[in-house]
Amino acid sequence: MAYNCSPLYNRTPLHATLDFPDYYATITLVFRDLTYALLDLVYPPQCLVCRAKLLSRPSAPGLCPSLRPSLPSGLRSGLPFGRPSSRSGLPFSRPSFRSGLCLFCLERIHYNTPPFCLKCSRPLAHLNPYAHCSDCLTKEPAFDFAWCACLYDDPLKSLIHQFKYNQGTFLRHLFHHVIISFIKTYHLDTQQFDFIVPIPLHPTRYRERGYNQAELLAGALARTLTIPLKRCLIRWRYTPSQALLAQKERWTNISGAFKINGHNNIRGKAILLVDDLLTTGATVNEAASTLKEAGARRVGVLTLAITPLRSTRE
Ligand SMILES: [Zn+2]
Ligand SMILES: [Zn+2]
Repeated sequence: MAYNCSPLYNRTPLHATLDFPDYYATITLVFRDLTYALLDLVYPPQCLVCRAKLLSRPSAPGLCPSLRPSLPSGLRSGLPFGRPSSRSGLPFSRPSFRSGLCLFCLERIHYNTPPFCLKCSRPLAHLNPYAHCSDCLTKEPAFDFAWCACLYDDPLKSLIHQFKYNQGTFLRHLFHHVIISFIKTYHLDTQQFDFIVPIPLHPTRYRERGYNQAELLAGALARTLTIPLKRCLIRWRYTPSQALLAQKERWTNISGAFKINGHNNIRGKAILLVDDLLTTGATVNEAASTLKEAGARRVGVLTLAITPLRSTRE
C-alpha cells in the first residue's frame, strides 16, 4: 500500500524522526520545564542575593547591553545564564533558576582581571618588574602557580558562604560555569595536568557538612576537562576552621594537616589542586607541599575566588 508522502499526510510520529537519545532528551526537557513553570507559580523564584523576583523568560538574552563592556569578551560570551535554552527552544525555559541570581547581581560578580601576580594570581594595583605580589616575593609558595577566577567580595562572598555553610550545593553549577569561562578567556592550559585533586576536608567536618565543596567543584571540572579526579590527599589532622583565625595563625594551624592517601603514586605527575577560595594561600600551600614531598613534578592551583590582601594592593 502506497502512502501519500506529502507533509500534510505524513503520520510519522515525532519519536520516529528523532534519534532515541534526542527523543529521550526532549521529553526530559519538556517535563523539567513544565515542572519549573509550576514551581514558579507556587514559589516565585527570587534572586539569592537581593531577593528580587527572577524572570522566567528574560526579554533580552544575556546581560544588559550597557553592562556588557565591563566584562572581558570571553566571560561575556561564556556566561550561560539569562538566555533561553537553545537546546529545547521551549517557552518555559527557566535560565534564572539555574544561576539563582538576577542579571544585576550576576553582573556584580568581579572577575579576576590583569594585572595579577604570576605566582598566586592575586590582583596587582600596578605591574611591578617581577609581576609578583609582595607575599610571593617574600615567601616562595610551594605550588607552581595559582589561577583564581574571581575576587572574593559581594555578591560572590555571600554565595560562597551559602555554598559552604548553608547546604547551597546547587550553586556548583553557577561556579562551574564561572570557572570554565575564566579558563576559556585566558586560554589556560589545563591539559598539562595528569590529575585533578580537591582539597580534602577532615572526616569529622565532612560528616558535619555532608559534602566537600572543593570536591563538588573539582568533580565538575574533571568531567568537563576530561582529566581524572584523584582523592590522593587526606586531611588527617583536625584543625580549627581557617576562617576563624588571623592570617599568621593560619599558617601554623594548617601545618602538617595533609598526607597522601594510601598508595597513590604521584611521582613525576602534574597535579591541579582545586579549592573554593584562596585567602592567605596557607591551605593550598600546605597541600602542594605535601604533594611535592611525595614526588609531584608540578602543582597548580585553581580556585573560584581569591581575596585581595591589603599588603598586595599597593
Ligand atoms: Zn539580585
Ligand atoms: Zn602572589
